[in-house]
Amino acid sequence: MPARTGQEYIKGLRDRPREVWIDGELVEDVTTHPALRGGVKSVAALYDMQHDAALREELTFASPTTGDPVGLSYLIPRTVEDLERRRDMMTHWAWASCGMMGRSPDFLNVIFSAWAGASGYFAQDRPEFEQNVLDYHEFIRENDVALTHALVNLQRRRTPNAADTLSDQVALTVVKETDSGIVVKGSRVLATLGPISDEIAIYPVAAHRLDDSDWRQSFSFSIPCDTSGVKFLCRESFDLGRSHFNHPLGSRFEEMDSVVFFDNVFVPWERVFLLGNVELCNGYAAGTQSDTHTGHQVLTRCVVKAEFMLGLADLIVDTLGSGTIPHVQEQVAELITQRDMLKSCLRAAEADAAPNQWGVMCPAVSSIRAGRTLFGRSVYPRMVEIVQILGTSSLMALPSEADFDTPIADEVNQYLATDTATARDRAKLFHLAWDASCSAFSGRQVLYERMFGGNPVRNSISLYTNYDKEPFKQKVREFLDL
Ligand SMILES: Cc1cc2nc3c(=O)[nH]c(=O)nc-3n(C[C@H](O)[C@H](O)[C@H](O)COP(=O)(O)OP(=O)(O)OC[C@H]3O[C@@H](n4cnc5c(N)ncnc54)[C@H](O)[C@@H]3O)c2cc1C
Repeated sequence: MPARTGQEYIKGLRDRPREVWIDGELVEDVTTHPALRGGVKSVAALYDMQHDAALREELTFASPTTGDPVGLSYLIPRTVEDLERRRDMMTHWAWASCGMMGRSPDFLNVIFSAWAGASGYFAQDRPEFEQNVLDYHEFIRENDVALTHALVNLQRRRTPNAADTLSDQVALTVVKETDSGIVVKGSRVLATLGPISDEIAIYPVAAHRLDDSDWRQSFSFSIPCDTSGVKFLCRESFDLGRSHFNHPLGSRFEEMDSVVFFDNVFVPWERVFLLGNVELCNGYAAGTQSDTHTGHQVLTRCVVKAEFMLGLADLIVDTLGSGTIPHVQEQVAELITQRDMLKSCLRAAEADAAPNQWGVMCPAVSSIRAGRTLFGRSVYPRMVEIVQILGTSSLMALPSEADFDTPIADEVNQYLATDTATARDRAKLFHLAWDASCSAFSGRQVLYERMFGGNPVRNSISLYTNYDKEPFKQKVREFLDL
C-alpha cells in the first residue's frame, strides 16, 4: 500500500477502537472526542501532505517492496544525501505544527529504520528476532503506521543508581512465555500520541538501566493499540474546544500524553525483537545507533521550533513598535543566536555523519547530543521567557474572537490598535504568543522539551561517565609541565 492519506489514518483509528480513559470517561471514538480530535486532524494533515503534488517527491521514496511511493522517514539512510533528504522531509512535517508535535510519526519511523539497518544486532539475542525487526519495518513502511512508544517503567521509589528499582507489581513484566508468544503485565509512562496511534512500541531506555536481576523486564516489542488488555489513561486535554483564533496551538496540536496499563497482554513471537537479555537491552542504543537517528528528527524539529519562536518574537516587536529599544533588540538577537547554534549542530551532525558497522549512515552523535540537550535544558525555556518578556501585558490585554462582535467592539478596535496593527490582527498574534508562552499547552511544551528524551540529570551522569575527557586533561597536564 502506498503512503497513507489522512482519511485512511482516521478510518484506521475508527476501525480499531482501543481502550482510552480521559477524565473518568471511556472514549468511544478517539477521532471525534473533543479532547483528541484536534490532534487526529493534525496527524491526518501530515499524511495528506504526502499526496500534495508539490511535495510528494520530497516526502516519499519508492518502496523497495512494491515501487509505490512510501514515507521518506522509512528510508534506511546509506549516504549523507539520504540524511539531508530525510531532514528536508522532516522539516516539512515539523513546520506543519510549528515544531509543537514531538511525536509526529517520523519520530518512531526513523528508529525502526535504524533497527532494520542494524537488524544483525537483534540476531545476537535470538536469530529469529532479526527477521522480526525486518518484517516489522516492512509492515510499518507499507502500511504507513503511526506509532507511539512508552519506555519508562513506573517506580514506587527512586534511588540514585544508574539502574532503576523495579518492582514486578508495577513495572512492565513478562509473566508467561507460550508457544505463540509472551504475556506481559504492568505499566509504562508516557505514551505521547498513544490514544491516537495505530501501534505502541515498547523497548528499554538507555538512561534507565536494567540490572542483571531485571531479565523479566528486559524486552522490546510492538503491538496494535487495540490489543486486548492495553489501556491508555490520559492527562487532561489542552484542547479546550476554543476556536483557532483563541487557542491557535492547543486547538490543533494536542498530541496527548498517557500512562499505559498492560493487563496480561499477549504479544505474538513475530512482534518480539529482544527478550530477557539484559546486556542487549541496555546496549541497543549504542549497538544500533538508533538514538542518533531519533536525535536527527528531534534536532530538525528543534530548529523549526526555534525559527517559529524567533518569527513570533519579531512579529510581537513589529506589532508593539518596540524594535528601536536596545534591550528588545538584544533579546531578539539572543533568539537568532540560539536558532543559528541549533542549525549549526544539525548541519555538523550531517557533515560529520559516518556509516556504522551495519552500513547505515549515522549523524554525528556529539552534535546531535549537544543541540538537543541545550534545547531542552536552557534554549527552549529561555525562548518562552523572551516571548513573555517581549509580549508583556499584551499577553493579557487580549480580547477573544467574540469580543469583536459585541457592543464594545468599537472601543476594542480603537484602543487596542497599534501604529502597525489593527486590534484584530494584534489579538490574533497575541493569542498565538499566549498559547506559545503562557497557556497550559505552552507549559507542557517546556516540560516535554526538558523530559521527553529522558531525565536530564541521568543523561548528564551518563555523559560524564562515558565521555572521553582524557585528551583535554592531557593538554592541561602538558601545559602544567611546561
Ligand atoms: C510531556 C512528556 C512527554 C513524554 N513522552 C514520552 C513518550 O512519548 N514516550 C516515553 O517513553 N516517555 C515519554 N516521556 C517520559 C520521559 O521519558 C520521562 O519523564 C523521563 O525519562 C524521566 O523519567 P521519570 O519521569 O520517571 O522521572 P525520574 O527519572 O524518575 O526522575 C524523577 C526525579 O528523581 C530524580 N532522579 C530519579 N532517579 C534518578 C537517578 N538515578 N539519578 C539522578 N536523578 C534521579 C530526577 O532528577 C527527578 O527529579 C515524556 C515525558 C513528558 C514530561
